[in-house]
Amino acid sequence: MIKTEIKALKELLNTPKNIVVVPHKNPDGDAMGSTLGLYHYLKTYNHNITVIAPNDYPKFLKWLPGNDEVLIFENIQTESIALIENADLIFTLDFNALHRSGEMGEHLKIASATKIMIDHHQQPDDYAKYMYSDVSMSSTCEMVFNFIELLDDSNKIDTKIATCLYTGIMTDTGSFRFQSTTSRTHNVVSQLISKGANNAEIHNNVLDCNSYSRLQLLGKALQNLKVIPELSTAYITLSQAELDAYNFNKGDTEGFVNYGLSLNGIVFAAIFIESKHEGLIKISLRSKGEFSVNEFSRAHFNGGGHTNAAGGRSHEDLKSTVDKFISILPTYKNELSPTH
Ligand code: 5GP
Ligand code: MN
Repeated sequence: MIKTEIKALKELLNTPKNIVVVPHKNPDGDAMGSTLGLYHYLKTYNHNITVIAPNDYPKFLKWLPGNDEVLIFENIQTESIALIENADLIFTLDFNALHRSGEMGEHLKIASATKIMIDHHQQPDDYAKYMYSDVSMSSTCEMVFNFIELLDDSNKIDTKIATCLYTGIMTDTGSFRFQSTTSRTHNVVSQLISKGANNAEIHNNVLDCNSYSRLQLLGKALQNLKVIPELSTAYITLSQAELDAYNFNKGDTEGFVNYGLSLNGIVFAAIFIESKHEGLIKISLRSKGEFSVNEFSRAHFNGGGHTNAAGGRSHEDLKSTVDKFISILPTYKNELSPTH
């Protein structure tokens, strides 16, 4: 963000405003951490702020400070639409295109509010007056920390803000291990711990809250894991029947795709999850090194994301989707073959 924009934003935030803060659909730790972190920060001014999530999110994020204040657009549409229409400012966090907020995107599009994007996904759309977009960032939470610093307000970061921002940095970096984790990321995390983020407790809340049925579902997913060694690829499938057999709850499959990537020699991992009620197959793609799953997903599976982590979807059935995936892979032989 350039200095003049920061100055303009500082002025905007100087007088009380109606503000709506929005994460992407199916919000993850970074989406909820950044929206709630920003929410607590803006609360330190006299603004009227509402966080509106497009749809519900997993239980392992429901302990975040401010969680009880979050409106779910899918459940409370009329009130949410009125808030969007009356907003002076709308912050969109952790997404790069309005359709990523689902049906809510249509309302955001026509809203008269000044829009501010804070995001680290590739190829951002041009809908925001103020854009803080940086694909080199580990997480939107790290960017919210920078944003608060740019506004000269680091001293306002309290335990609640620190806890929210720590959570998103932790989840988006796979607990500080992905390539996007820089020394600056660690520096920010260090400051967040100094400001009161309890790292052991946060890890415990997010990661050590398995149900027995989720572990059984993981067992099934691992049984279904297939490896294509000549293309350094591993993939998992989960059918609706398998999800049903293990009492699937939202968020239960979070992180499963990484098991494929943990195999020796594998640089590309995918998971295909059937969702009968949505009539689609949800796809998560992960890679190590230079192979861009963002580009792969954009080209073949109606999605996108980052170089090493992307999502996508298919409207064909599970088998056809996997067949398509397998048939496409050889075109990436040069990038994926082990001798590369
Ligand atoms: P996941 O596999 O966890 O759903 O998504 C991995 C990453 O890709 C996340 O950062 C997520 O926000 C992003 N992502 C998932 N689906 C899409 C999509 O359709 N478009 C874009 N631009 N990013 C996506
Ligand atoms: Mn993110």
